Amino acid sequence: MKSCQILMPALLSPGVIAALEDRFTLHRLWEQVDPDRFLQDHGAAIRGMAASSRAGQIGGELYDRLPALEIVANFGVGYDTVDVDAAAARGIIVTNTPGVLDEEVADLTLGLLLATVRRIPQADRHVREGRWPAGSFPLSPTLRGRTIGILGLGSIGKAIARRLDGFGVKIAYHGRSRQALVGYDYHPTPEALAEACDVLVAIVPGGTETRHLVDAAVLAALGPQGILINVARGSVVDQAALVAALQSGTILAAGLDVFEDEPHVPQTLLDLPGVVVLPHVGSASTHTRAAMGQLVVDNLVAWFDTGRPVTPVNAPPVRTR
Ligand code: NDP
Repeated sequence: MKSCQILMPALLSPGVIAALEDRFTLHRLWEQVDPDRFLQDHGAAIRGMAASSRAGQIGGELYDRLPALEIVANFGVGYDTVDVDAAAARGIIVTNTPGVLDEEVADLTLGLLLATVRRIPQADRHVREGRWPAGSFPLSPTLRGRTIGILGLGSIGKAIARRLDGFGVKIAYHGRSRQALVGYDYHPTPEALAEACDVLVAIVPGGTETRHLVDAAVLAALGPQGILINVARGSVVDQAALVAALQSGTILAAGLDVFEDEPHVPQTLLDLPGVVVLPHVGSASTHTRAAMGQLVVDNLVAWFDTGRPVTPVNAPPVRTR
């Protein structure tokens, strides 16, 4: 048995498992008949964790059962399922996988945006269901002349904006602060951004701070030609308010990669003709998921070899124990 023990609460890819097993003793919690008993017997020896959102919330209760835990390496740039404050309070470092997925998520966002505006899935269904001979597909809305508001102009938001620059549309953004080197119009609130644009792309982190950042008031400000694209987290949008806004014509359409209670998508949303849905696939290509997995491995190896994780999200940046 290799001396350093790592816990994987939920399945990650075979590549990640193989790379970790090469270097560490890896415990697969989801395969344990009695996970509770396993933690009782082995928790004290666990020094690292390879986590993902599949594992559900990771926080104080689990940390308490892993007193030697030094690092949680999260698979994903969003770490809203990891309690970073509780980790920091125990001196546990948390890492994520930023950068390696920006272009992939931005590509998907543009695909979802175009699919929603030009009703591409609906047009596909028109052909498949044999309705074309009986009549042309109805004219769609357009991207022409629209202003796109980016809610969260971070790494992925900027990759989305770079693509949109080539589409000849106006871009505006909102974040908690104006960015000095960014030339797009800044709006100090989500509502002001929605007022100024007619396509709103949400790409902020999830978690309590951004919960329902897009609410009924923001949707009303987006207006009757308004289109919401959510590639952030389901929690960022008040889903009940969104359904109501679509049903009443307060906004026109929505393209959604994320939902409040994944993998459950309410039938009320699916029944709406202007809604395009995806099963949370923003980063889900073979190439990018492999790069994310490698970064999980690199963070664990770097921490235990050098005490300097590659992409930490919290202090301390240097190993202290
Ligand atoms: P970054 O940290 O680079 O950017 C986040 C942006 O959000 C920043 O511009 C920040 O600006 C803004 N922001 C943060 N908090 C708030 C707030 N409370 N109100 C308004 N704006 C806020 O992150 P990434 O671009 O790398 O990733 C963003 C998110 O995208 C991830 O956290 C994840 O949830 C989601 N994602 C979704 C994927 C999918 O599959 N659909 C795949 C990958 C990521 P400021 O600091 O000025 O407020």
